Amino acid sequence: MYRLTCATALMLSTALPAMAEGVVNIYSYRQPELIAPLTEAFTEETGIEVNVAYLEKGMVERLQAEGDRSPADMVLTVDISRLSAVVDAGLTQPVETETLTTNVPAQYRDPDGNWYGLTTRARIVYASKDRVDPAEVTTYEDLADPKWEGRICTRSGTHAYNVALTSAVIEHQGEEAAKEWLQGVKNNLARKPQGNDRAQVKAIWAGECDIAIGNTYYMGKMLEDPEQTEWANSVNVLFPEFEDGGTHVNISGVALTKSAPNKENAIKMMEFLTSPKAQEIYAHANYEYPIAEGTEADDIVKGWGTFTADETNLMAIAAHRAAALKITEEVDFDG
Ligand code: FE
Repeated sequence: MYRLTCATALMLSTALPAMAEGVVNIYSYRQPELIAPLTEAFTEETGIEVNVAYLEKGMVERLQAEGDRSPADMVLTVDISRLSAVVDAGLTQPVETETLTTNVPAQYRDPDGNWYGLTTRARIVYASKDRVDPAEVTTYEDLADPKWEGRICTRSGTHAYNVALTSAVIEHQGEEAAKEWLQGVKNNLARKPQGNDRAQVKAIWAGECDIAIGNTYYMGKMLEDPEQTEWANSVNVLFPEFEDGGTHVNISGVALTKSAPNKENAIKMMEFLTSPKAQEIYAHANYEYPIAEGTEADDIVKGWGTFTADETNLMAIAAHRAAALKITEEVDFDG
């Protein structure tokens, strides 16, 4: 048993040559195209070498299995539910520095310092330019109105992005009203939930539906892709709000692992990621909204217009995750 544990630890340390000075090790759910420019800029500025293990799933399980011997110093991921899964499993440690708390607004970080948001993305409505007057799209609550019957497309209700939106509805309206809302949205669907956010915009372009729920940055991504430009150009980006105010946003973020062998370097990296320099890289590479004050979104993103973000702390949204999944099943949203 002991031998096996040793062998496992050895294997992992070979995969990620850690534990020396001048190194920081990251487990990332975010993609190499986005992270590489950030790590290169950090190494250039500090001389600290960055190793990244890009994971598609199983981050919590891997950190748990590695325990104190984990080479990982920090984790990068999108979505508050994925960040809080790492925190809830007891795999992080709190950190608080003036740079972090100055650069990251309070609603986008854990009050205890276990995670920090790095970028935001709004979950908005893509609406057909031909068939929807932008003024028709008002609130999230309105998406349950029968006027949209047979006109809405979305991905699975159990996808993290939609679970967070439903959780936000619970936060604003309570669970009972949220369930009615979700049933109403389901009644308005043009087709069973399927595909990713971009597939919904394609469906609008193809005339299958008139509005879709999706994340903002996909508009930028579609405009970059010759095949998808037409889809993007067939829709307007519209920012619904909750009846009591604010557009739903989620984050990408970072957390320091409990066992971080290179803690000081990791904190330097965390601070770097919230700095104007790194925030600009994020803003231009992935069309997300930077969070550090004084940094601006990409011109394409600014072209979609401004909005007021919901001020709910994302911890509150994460806390409704189980309830959101439950009502999604109860209304058989994907069925
Ligand atoms: Fe995404």
